[in-house]
This record gives sequence, C-alpha cells and structure tokens, in this order.
Amino acid sequence: MSQQIAFIGAGNMAGAILKGLIQQGHPAQQVHVSDLDEPKLNALAAEFTGLNTYTDNAACIANADVVVLAVKPQLMAAVCEPLLAAQPSLANKLIVSVAAGIKVARLREMLGNAQRVVRTMPNTPCLIGQGMTGLYADEQVSETDRNAAQTLMQAVGKTAWVESEAGLNHVIAASGSAPAYFFMFMDAMQKSVEAMGLDAVSARQFVQQAAIGSSQLAASQMDKSFTELTAQVTSKGGTTAEAVATFKDGDLAGLVDQALRNCVARAEQME
Ligand code: NAP
Repeated sequence: MSQQIAFIGAGNMAGAILKGLIQQGHPAQQVHVSDLDEPKLNALAAEFTGLNTYTDNAACIANADVVVLAVKPQLMAAVCEPLLAAQPSLANKLIVSVAAGIKVARLREMLGNAQRVVRTMPNTPCLIGQGMTGLYADEQVSETDRNAAQTLMQAVGKTAWVESEAGLNHVIAASGSAPAYFFMFMDAMQKSVEAMGLDAVSARQFVQQAAIGSSQLAASQMDKSFTELTAQVTSKGGTTAEAVATFKDGDLAGLVDQALRNCVARAEQME
C-alpha cells in the first residue's frame, strides 16, 4: 500500500510535488495537505479528487508516514512547535524539508529530536516536472528513508544526493537560483535582437527555442563538457566566434563565478 504523505503549506513547491505524485499514480486519498489559506486548499481539492485538505497542521500529519515541510523558512519554527505539541514523538514519520537554509540539526531541534530528517533543495522547473533536486541526509537516516525521500522528489524531476550539508548551498547556486540566471541571459538576448529590429514575438521564440534546444542537445551528449560543446558550434572566424570572443573579453566566466559565490555566501548567512 502507498504511503500516507502530508504536506505542510500548500504553496508552489508543495503544489508541484503533490501534483507530480498524483499524476504518477499515488492515490490522492493518501495525500494530505494543510495551509491557512482555505481557497488555496479548495482549489487543490477541486483539481485532485480525494485529496485530503486541512487548516490544522497537526491533524494533517496525524496519520502520515512522510511529512513534507513546505513553508517559508522564517515560518518553520512557528509551524513545528504545535506539531510537536500534538505528537511528541515523530519517530514514526519521515520528515522531508524543502526549506532553504534550515539545517538538519535545527530541524531536529524544532521537531523534538526527530531523527528521520532529509533536507532537499528543489527548483521551480519542478512546477512542470523538469525540476532538479539536491538531497542531503546524515548517517542517522536509513537507506529506506533516503529512498523514500528521493522517490518523492523524483515526482517532479531529477534528483541527486550531496555528501555534505554545505553542498546544498552549492546546489542553490547551481540549480535552485539558476532559473533566474538563465531567464536574465535570455532576456538580454531578446532585448538585443529586438533593438536590432527583430519583432518581439519572433525574438522571444528564437531565443527560447535556442535555450531549450541547446539544453536538450547538451543532455544528449553527456560525454562532452560544456567547453567542448561550445567549441563544437564555434567555427574559426565565424559569427559565433565573434560573440564568444566578446563574452571572453568581458570575462563572462569571472562574472558568473562571482555571482555564484555571492549566492552561496548569502545562503550561508541565512543558516
Ligand atoms: P509559498 O508558495 O509561499 O508556499 C508556502 C505556503 O505555506 C503558502 O501557501 C503559505 O500560505 C503557507 N503557510 C504559511 N504559514 C503557514 C502555516 N502556519 N501553516 C501552514 N501553511 C502555512 O512558497 P514556496 O515557493 O512553495 O516555498 C516553500 C518552501 O520551499 C520554502 O521554504 C522555500 O525555501 C522552499 N523552496 C522553494 C523554491 C522555489 O523555487 N519556490 C525552491 C527551493 C526551495 P500564505 O501564502 O497564506 O502565507
């Protein structure tokens, strides 16, 4: 029988994961979700017949095997306190946090020393099943629980484990925050070709499809590095070479490195 999975917070991330789960065949009757916002719950219940909704977080997790904490990090302590008060032992539940910046030790503290805790770092492409999630668990978490957390996040895309908790901050830089970088780059490209005369609709379509196609091409040639893939489309003296040289002259790689280091530094500050 499928596990009973409870989501605390019915926002973007919880909505994406529960949608992925149900679409992959997890019975909606075995999915529970709580939020303070009733219209949000009603919308989900209308979309997924049989889904269990709650405005009381403790009631939501009462019979859960897996609890997904999907509220904003700054609300986590206030959310966990009544959960613990209602269920002093959470030993029979696997806790999966998607919240940025709250370490396993802190989560355990908030949850009455619950041991079965897995931290995850997803990204927004999860909303369309194309997410990438980094997972971290320490040695106290069993193989069975690791597999359960990974299977859960695979409902919305690909997954990979990081060996240290600090690695999750690198996942934020590489993937959690990355959609914004790609959107910025695409936006700059669109504005440039528009300024040169391409109409806005075409500019968007060409840039967007180039991004999708390049990404899928790279995924189909995993034996080649990004440097090799760049060289592959850059013939000497050609148009691409001209653009590539301009990026190198402007130290694009240095700027990206600085941006990602700043992203990680901010993640560390938030811990
Ligand atoms: P979100 O859309 O704001 O979802 C959070 C939900 O929790 C909202 O519906 C919120 O309701 C609800 N909530 C607030 N207080 C609550 C309470 N006491 N009990 C139950 N529910 C409550 O945020 P999100 O983007 O899904 O992010 C959720 C978590 O995922 C965050 O910790 C974030 O760090 C993490 N995350 C997000 C992303 C991302 O790209 N979105 C990526 C990685 C990780 P109200 O709207 O009424 O306040």
